[in-house]
Amino acid sequence: MQISESKRLFAHAKNFIPGGVNSPVRAFRAVGGEPLFIKKADGAFLYDEDGNAFIELINSWGPMILGHNHPMIREAVIKAMENGTSFGAPTAKEVEIAELITKMVPSVEKVRMVNSGTEATMSAIRVARGFTGRDKFIKMEGHYHGHGDSFLISAGSGAITMGNPDSPGVTVGTAKDTLLAPYNSLEAIEKLVEANKGEIAALILEPVPGNMGLALPNPGYLEGLREICTREGIVLIFDEVMTGFRLAPGGAQELFGVTPDMTTLGKIIGGGMPVGAYGGKKEIMEFVSPAGPVYQAGTLSGNPIAMAAGLTMLRFLNENPQTYAELNLIGRKISEGIAKINHDLNLNYTVNHLGSMYSLFFTSNPVIDFESAKTSNTVLFGKYFQAMLKRGIYLAPSQFESLFLSTALTEDLIQKILGAHKESMVEIHS
Ligand SMILES: *Cc1c(COP(=O)(O)O)cnc(C)c1O
Repeated sequence: MQISESKRLFAHAKNFIPGGVNSPVRAFRAVGGEPLFIKKADGAFLYDEDGNAFIELINSWGPMILGHNHPMIREAVIKAMENGTSFGAPTAKEVEIAELITKMVPSVEKVRMVNSGTEATMSAIRVARGFTGRDKFIKMEGHYHGHGDSFLISAGSGAITMGNPDSPGVTVGTAKDTLLAPYNSLEAIEKLVEANKGEIAALILEPVPGNMGLALPNPGYLEGLREICTREGIVLIFDEVMTGFRLAPGGAQELFGVTPDMTTLGKIIGGGMPVGAYGGKKEIMEFVSPAGPVYQAGTLSGNPIAMAAGLTMLRFLNENPQTYAELNLIGRKISEGIAKINHDLNLNYTVNHLGSMYSLFFTSNPVIDFESAKTSNTVLFGKYFQAMLKRGIYLAPSQFESLFLSTALTEDLIQKILGAHKESMVEIHS
């Protein structure tokens, strides 16, 4: 048998790249087998180096909300490139995208562009600390905020998947200022606040977490966090790197009607280019250098190519709000279809769904936090992943991820996904 091009590339890559990949979860360790090397993508499809086509349910972990290689984004990038790739000086496009972000996400009165979600959350915490003059912050178990040192404590998908939630290299000194709480428990927050009175700079969370698989906030939970933070002078940070411009034009904060003090953004905001952003109330953002004393900088921040892609994406979403109704319908058809097939097969698994995000958990427990997410049967998930892949459906290679749907999923493709789901569930349970 001829060895596949993906297998050959992976073996070769391991000589030069740690684990053969540039981001751990790509290595497929949680699901067995070896990663596919992707040659190109278009619309709802990924194509690997061996010429196989896959229907996409991750969409580059979120950014490709309109599907891959969208002509509008492609043309914007090509046009921008004709004027040069980076200037290291201000441009008109940066002002345009900043203004549009503040319009779409009104709690963001001022915004700073960076190059990744990781940079956005690291910077937001620094600013919150500078603003409050306090050191500690609260994060939720199983939530992921990128790979900044102070966040690599119970950090969701990648870390759970690798089985080392606390990474070596993160010092005890750094970790001690990160306070952990379970998601969806206001009582736990009250206890932490009481035990660390006047010492907590910020509370950061994924308002709708996707990095331990998708879970939803209990009714009143986000409102409760808002009340506690206001009362205690704690900066409430919504990490909307995943949910921003996905759940609504204004993200989870618009959908749930709860206003954070700061917001971190990424993924969709770059239209597939490496972009992140953080922003919030004027009086907080005025602390950022050079307006204020908190230093944060970036050689390629706001570069014209990334801004052209991001601005084109955001403009489209802003001018075409019906996109969200379209996405929600696609999300409902797939997640409800999956739940029905499971039910018909007498399989009682939890399906969490919101808008164009969903997760199928191989557990019958409701999944509302990290503890309940961990009751999932990850071995069975690995088998399901492989069974779907064999049928041409590309899922996130970990139980602890949300899937991200795009508008490129037509009715015909949705039926293919559901057909593959049914066959896969039968196969892995026989
Ligand atoms: C992806 C993600 C990040 C990190 O963004 P990168 O661009 O990968 O650094 C941070 N927070 C959340 C909620 C994310 O989903």
